[in-house]
Amino acid sequence: MSLSIFLPSSIDVAVVGAGSAGLSAARRLARAGVAVVVLEARGRLGGRAHSVAHEGMPIDLGCGWLHSADENVLCTLGREAGFTIDQTSPPWRQQAFNLGLTPAEQVEFGETFDAFDQRVADAAKAGDDNAASNLFIPGDRWNPRMDAISGALNGAKFAEVSTLDYDAYEDTGINYRVTEGYGSLIAFLGAEVPVVLNCPVERIDRSAARLTIETARGTIEAKSVILTLPTSVLASEAVRFDPPLSELIEAAAGAPLGLASKLHMAVEGWEEFPKDSQLWGRTDTSQTGGYHLRPFGRPIIEGYFGGDLAWGLEAQGEAAFFDFACSELADLLGSSFPKRLRVLSTSMWGVDPFSMGAYSHVLPGLGDRETGARARLRRPIEDRIFVAGEATSPNFYGTCHGAWMEGERAAVEAMVALGIDPRLSNPSAE
Ligand SMILES: Cc1cc2nc3c(=O)[nH]c(=O)nc-3n(C[C@H](O)[C@H](O)[C@H](O)COP(=O)(O)OP(=O)(O)OC[C@H]3O[C@@H](n4cnc5c(N)ncnc54)[C@H](O)[C@@H]3O)c2cc1C
Repeated sequence: MSLSIFLPSSIDVAVVGAGSAGLSAARRLARAGVAVVVLEARGRLGGRAHSVAHEGMPIDLGCGWLHSADENVLCTLGREAGFTIDQTSPPWRQQAFNLGLTPAEQVEFGETFDAFDQRVADAAKAGDDNAASNLFIPGDRWNPRMDAISGALNGAKFAEVSTLDYDAYEDTGINYRVTEGYGSLIAFLGAEVPVVLNCPVERIDRSAARLTIETARGTIEAKSVILTLPTSVLASEAVRFDPPLSELIEAAAGAPLGLASKLHMAVEGWEEFPKDSQLWGRTDTSQTGGYHLRPFGRPIIEGYFGGDLAWGLEAQGEAAFFDFACSELADLLGSSFPKRLRVLSTSMWGVDPFSMGAYSHVLPGLGDRETGARARLRRPIEDRIFVAGEATSPNFYGTCHGAWMEGERAAVEAMVALGIDPRLSNPSAE
């Protein structure tokens, strides 16, 4: 359910994109009495927060975990809205049945990863902004596995990740989930704001006092615009600016989206697997998937594929994910195991023209907090074009709550620019 409307001819603030950032910006503005409309390319709310139902089970194709849950604003809003917050800890550091990895090796890898994180922190403290992979121990047996983890964390290998930016990410280590689906929560929270669906923005003319926004459904004039497009979409120039905004496009290209893809499979004989446990396909290569067994105790396996592997599988088409998962799981659980699996859903965020990837990372050399890609993206343009989204978050980038907080930040900036005192609005109603 959403407050879906027709395109008005003029508005105070137009928000481009109805994902977490766009919906939070619009909520903040609408609650302050500002005339706002969200222009969304897809026929639904939520963007990369997207829950679907399969056989009565909510499944998240995009974000699933409330990271930093003890401080996460969406955890609070979810509880207030009556959603169920599941507090089961994630199984990411364990290998179910110790398959292919002894307990001692699991501890050794954990220590290796923590030591790497510390080297990155030290480098960042010294101001070094290089590829994080420069801090691998040359020839170490765990390096490929570190990149498998980077595929899930960053959607890209550590060679493509800035040390300064990687170190800036903040996480309390507490991770919860929304039983009804994280995407369902975001769509619920956004249901009160006016949204024009199936309305891709194509061009923004900023040559006059009011902005003219051309969409596939007509033209709208606005005093200000809040852009919440994924950075790779912005960098592709799917939305043209007149006069051009080459600085913004360049900044977006410096924080591109990596890729993470999910494959949900129903599994027969699921009772033999421990609830919420984890298997990694292989331990000696970056080209491997993670398999979450029985999330929420449900009779399914969620495959997670990151970085180059995900891009390669997407290029081959949806079926390639299932083939790959079957082959890895057969190696671990026996050659007849794939007969027990059935595909429920495959996410394809990379080929989707409205996301072009999963979440952002910053390229080496562009991670400076004041002058780097994220900082440049966040800079208001002419006090009437504001950019928000997971990628503009300095510390919570790549996350749904980071996007939500950035939407609020941009909404406040837009209000100040319009001469509206944000303190007069009523955020406590939120
Ligand atoms: C597989 C996967 C797993 C993830 N796991 C987690 C997780 O566990 N925890 C977590 O916190 N985060 C996770 N994330 C990241 C999280 O989903 C995103 O960071 C967050 O949802 C991004 O919100 P956003 O508002 O910045 O962008 P989006 O949600 O992408 O919103 C942008 C909106 O703009 C729209 N749009 C695009 N082009 C146009 C156009 N031309 N005109 C109009 N509208 C347009 C899009 O359709 C979209 O609705 C995951 C993401 C993926 C893909």
